[in-house]
Amino acid sequence: MQALRYRKSIPRYLLMRLAAKRVRGLDTSSAAPFGLEEIPEPVPPTPEWVRVRPRLAGICGSDLSTLSATSSPYFSPLTSPPFVMGHEVVGEVAEDAGDFRAGDRVVIEPALGCRVRGISPECPMCSAGRYALCTNVTEGDISPGIQTGFCRDTGGGWSEMLVAHPSQLYRVPETLSDEEAVLTEPLACAVHAALTHAPDPEETVVVLGAGSIGLLVVGALKQLTGVERLICVAKHPRQRQEALRLGASAVVSPKEVYTRLPELLGARLHRPELGKPVVLGGADKVFECIGSPGTLEDATRLARPGGTVAFVGMPGHSSRLDLTPLWHQETELVGTYAYGIDEYRGERVKSFELALRIAPALDLKGLVGPRFRLPQYREAIAAARAAGRNGHVKVAFDLREE
Ligand SMILES: [Zn+2]
Ligand SMILES: [Zn+2]
Repeated sequence: MQALRYRKSIPRYLLMRLAAKRVRGLDTSSAAPFGLEEIPEPVPPTPEWVRVRPRLAGICGSDLSTLSATSSPYFSPLTSPPFVMGHEVVGEVAEDAGDFRAGDRVVIEPALGCRVRGISPECPMCSAGRYALCTNVTEGDISPGIQTGFCRDTGGGWSEMLVAHPSQLYRVPETLSDEEAVLTEPLACAVHAALTHAPDPEETVVVLGAGSIGLLVVGALKQLTGVERLICVAKHPRQRQEALRLGASAVVSPKEVYTRLPELLGARLHRPELGKPVVLGGADKVFECIGSPGTLEDATRLARPGGTVAFVGMPGHSSRLDLTPLWHQETELVGTYAYGIDEYRGERVKSFELALRIAPALDLKGLVGPRFRLPQYREAIAAARAAGRNGHVKVAFDLREE
């Protein structure tokens, strides 16, 4: 089958780290540790695993960071190259298996925790329903990997076939198109972030960033928490328009983060002798959805004293942060990763199920595109990097038969 695979190569990795940011297209060139290959289909590691044919597979910011080697080396022991990439997947079951019938349309929950790995008893994180935080991601029936799309044995969405444990599969309602369904994984991340740090309805929230994660966090906060003062920092016209459509009460541009935004927050600005402004007052909760050093810093400065900053975007290897505002303002800084079992109106429910439940109300169809075939991967990755400024939200691979 055809697959876009990431290989381990220290020299190529170092070359990407050195030059991928500056040389356009280097991360998909023949010098990259990544490319289109003809490889055997993945084999189910145990008889209960299900073979799934991807239909659409999204390109995530974390994929782009992997390709340009800007993600942290932290992940290297928790992945197992060579791996087929792609963790945002809607597909169809290849043949009858357990409760699934051939042709069933499914989305894949990529986390590879104890249950998926055949490990019993489960680790404390998995037994608490926080299986994306599993401490056994290097053990069990399959090779190391935090998620499908980073593990040698599972395959990934950027190919013609992958294998998944039945506990990773969720049936897609017929009323939901492939385009909407392929956003279930990032939407589940947004649901988890919104519910784990749910604002009270009278609180003020800032969502920093309006790429796919930022927009979906806006949508999830609006649908699930009843918050009314929800300000989104969005750079491009399409992002501003979508943020408002999904429920932001106001949008500001990144240039207004230390001008109009503090005004909207009723906060006061002070200029230090060096560096970014000091903000006194601010938002009750800030969701940082980019992960770049500058915006991580902004997030900590825009929270009110005693407020919460949630890091939703994946930080890169070059993160740096002046911790003084955190210390001085007793800010709570929390990471929010992936999905799991969330609390919603007294119910314990999987983020994935909630994502499928709220997707129709968010009307996400228009957010996916352009779509590319696997052999067009160079154009696809370039389009994903340029998505915001070209008015796109989610670029995806299209594996459906023509
Ligand atoms: Zn992702
Ligand atoms: Zn576990």
